[in-house]
Amino acid sequence: MQWDAWGDPDRAVTLSDSQLALVHDVLKVSASDVQAVSRSEVRVRPSALTTYDVAALTAIVGEEHVSTNDDDRLPRAGGKSTLDLLRRRAADEQAAPDAVVVPGTEDEIVELLAVCAERRIAVVPFGGGTSVVGGLDPERNGMRAVISLDLRRFDRLESLDETDQEAVLGAGLTGPKAEWLLSEHGYELGHYPQSFCYATIGGFAATRSSGQDSAGYGRFDDMVRGLRVVTPVGVLDLDRPAPKTAAGPDLRQLFLGSEGVFGIITAVRVRIHPLPETRVYEAWRFPDFATGVAALRAVEQLGTGPTVLRLSDEVETAMNLATVTDAGGDAAATGGCFAVAGFEGPATLVEARRAATRTVLESHGGVSQGEEAGNHWAERRFDGPYLRDPLLSEGALVETLETATSWSNLAHLKQAVTDTIQAKFAEYGSMSLVLCHVSHVYDTGASLYFTVVGAQRGDAMAQWRDIKSAVNDVLMSHGGTITHHHAVGADHRDWMTAEVGPVGVRVLRAVKAALDPAGVLNPGKLIPVPVPEPHGP
Ligand SMILES: Cc1cc2nc3c(=O)[nH]c(=O)nc-3n(C[C@H](O)[C@H](O)[C@H](O)COP(=O)(O)OP(=O)(O)OC[C@H]3O[C@@H](n4cnc5c(N)ncnc54)[C@H](O)[C@@H]3O)c2cc1C
Repeated sequence: MQWDAWGDPDRAVTLSDSQLALVHDVLKVSASDVQAVSRSEVRVRPSALTTYDVAALTAIVGEEHVSTNDDDRLPRAGGKSTLDLLRRRAADEQAAPDAVVVPGTEDEIVELLAVCAERRIAVVPFGGGTSVVGGLDPERNGMRAVISLDLRRFDRLESLDETDQEAVLGAGLTGPKAEWLLSEHGYELGHYPQSFCYATIGGFAATRSSGQDSAGYGRFDDMVRGLRVVTPVGVLDLDRPAPKTAAGPDLRQLFLGSEGVFGIITAVRVRIHPLPETRVYEAWRFPDFATGVAALRAVEQLGTGPTVLRLSDEVETAMNLATVTDAGGDAAATGGCFAVAGFEGPATLVEARRAATRTVLESHGGVSQGEEAGNHWAERRFDGPYLRDPLLSEGALVETLETATSWSNLAHLKQAVTDTIQAKFAEYGSMSLVLCHVSHVYDTGASLYFTVVGAQRGDAMAQWRDIKSAVNDVLMSHGGTITHHHAVGADHRDWMTAEVGPVGVRVLRAVKAALDPAGVLNPGKLIPVPVPEPHGP
């Protein structure tokens, strides 16, 4: 992946005429307002590791698996949030890990953690590098140095059991590689977040990721049956064959969502499904968002069984249609709210689930738009993020944020977040577009996923932090969660006390102290702790 942009450079997009018109005429910004730094001009923070440190790391994993080169360190300098991408465009020195270390075995990780604790070197576990919450920030945080511990060599399908329909996947496997390995045996995992092409199994577990097929297959944490984790005080094997247990609290839950702060996940046992005989995506249209939400709720609470169930609000529907129209699509079908219901599995089951779902959607005011529009969504389901880079280059400020709440609070929270974003952009003299969709549904509530587009004004990083901070306060005061699936990282850390309360924070700190007494693992993420005093060399 590119160090300063999303995804595959060959799939980079240019803005269409209508998108450029939006930026130039409505937001009133253009490329000349934005600074751009070429790779040759980039200054990388020099590595703070001594030759003795490098020798100690090399002795464990071998010379070819330790690098202090700028070209290796820079791509691991952070994730892919808008703050990350803006930081990459700044002329300032780029903070980067002091080395990239790529262990190949759990024993090597055990030794690396011991050496790092002894030498006061922080360790940031690195999966696919797609964090959007500052989860990979190379914070030294009182340590002498920080390394990026890249899991990419943990890339095997360790086992697959057809009777139990479970597989053990290496933590460094990317989404496509994991699915490809499973498909060779006739199985799939069914976890398709928008970052699917790059994110890893370990990253999915460490952030409690949620994929677009969550209505049918659940979130990633629902798929996990067992975990192996290396902590600074030893290896935890949380992988017993029992499907359920009453042996105390579920310790696996301690590591799901632990964001590299408690340990390094090396392997994950997941439940798998036979490759579906049929996949069908059908598009729907609702007169407005409230009607569509009521329909999705009815489908989920009745349990008619779609694999994908999502609904765009009026603004997102209009914006997506504008893009389709540019590409020669059907401009006539404007207005209302676009929805998709997808189904996977044996053909007879798919037909039955689809028919039951159709009855509910129609009785709630939905009108089918057919499979062509549904397939169009499915074909382009990973494309959206490619638009952000050219928009940022034209001076737009674009980011996404997400939350979840109960069905009864959904409209209230959506309105409060939208109003806050628009009011904050107005303070910066910019209008803003706030697009929203529901893509993860539960019996009792749903997620809300917002895409925000406004104008960059002055220090765009400070501007976004200010806007996001106001939104985070609103999420906490209006019954939302600080994150439904992007995780906490550095960016949401200061809202964790509001999320779990002071006693909850004490629990997290106590677990951290027990598992990572030297505090080397991913400092500054997840847990709101006072910043420790700097240590001498
Ligand atoms: C364009 C885009 C679209 C996205 N869409 C979605 C989406 O649809 N759904 C969703 O849930 N998320 C989404 N995300 C967020 C991100 O992809 C997820 O958080 C993902 O799970 C991160 O996986 P990763 O392998 O890239 O982890 P990384 O970004 O490398 O790491 C994420 C965090 O986990 C820690 N970590 C990574 N691997 C391990 C390990 N093996 N052991 C311990 N800690 C580890 C890291 O230290 C870091 O704190 C999106 C991000 C982008 C940029």
